[in-house]
Amino acid sequence: MKFILASQNKHKANEIENILGDGFSIITMDETEARNIDIIEDGETFEENALIKARTVANATNLPTIADDSGICVDYLGGKPGIHTARFAGENATDDENIDKLLSELDGVPEENRGAHFACCIAVVFPSGDEQTFYGECHGRILTERHGENGFGYDPVFYVPEYGKAMAEIEPETKNKISHRSRALNAMMKGLTK
Ligand code: IMP
Repeated sequence: MKFILASQNKHKANEIENILGDGFSIITMDETEARNIDIIEDGETFEENALIKARTVANATNLPTIADDSGICVDYLGGKPGIHTARFAGENATDDENIDKLLSELDGVPEENRGAHFACCIAVVFPSGDEQTFYGECHGRILTERHGENGFGYDPVFYVPEYGKAMAEIEPETKNKISHRSRALNAMMKGLTK
């Protein structure tokens, strides 16, 4: 089945295409009339924001649409930045600025209190109005400095205990088996009822 992927984040789009593999035919927003569409993500949960993105693009294109909303939830910060992950250090913050802010908020916090998880909600919206959502998490902790060059976003400061490494030190094929995004997408591949 052919889906539009409602994401302008190239890293996310690459991961999603690799995880879904050949069973899905994915078109990115840039290849459709939805390329310049303005999406206002004003939901209060990952699920609401994923649905907002998927509905907006499905309405504009009349094609089945997949959207991802994801972020990092830090225990010591009471689950923040959560849905505000992309703008943690300000409206147009870069990944580096966001990481610097996170490291400074956790300055001096001991290892045992640096627990965190990545969360991902995948929303699928069909032109018929049928909607389904799928959720995944990946648990670890926040390092005190950056390690590794792979991945994107907060990967250099996210320690994955099962591998004893930062997410950015883990090969992309492995990240795509253990990540929050892969867990949500695997749930989607099993659960999609269309
Ligand atoms: P969104 O594009 O509005 O869903 O924001 C996602 C935010 O979470 C961005 O700041 C991303 O860098 C971050 N993020 C999402 N998934 C990952 C990941 O797999 N690794 C690192 N950061 C991620």
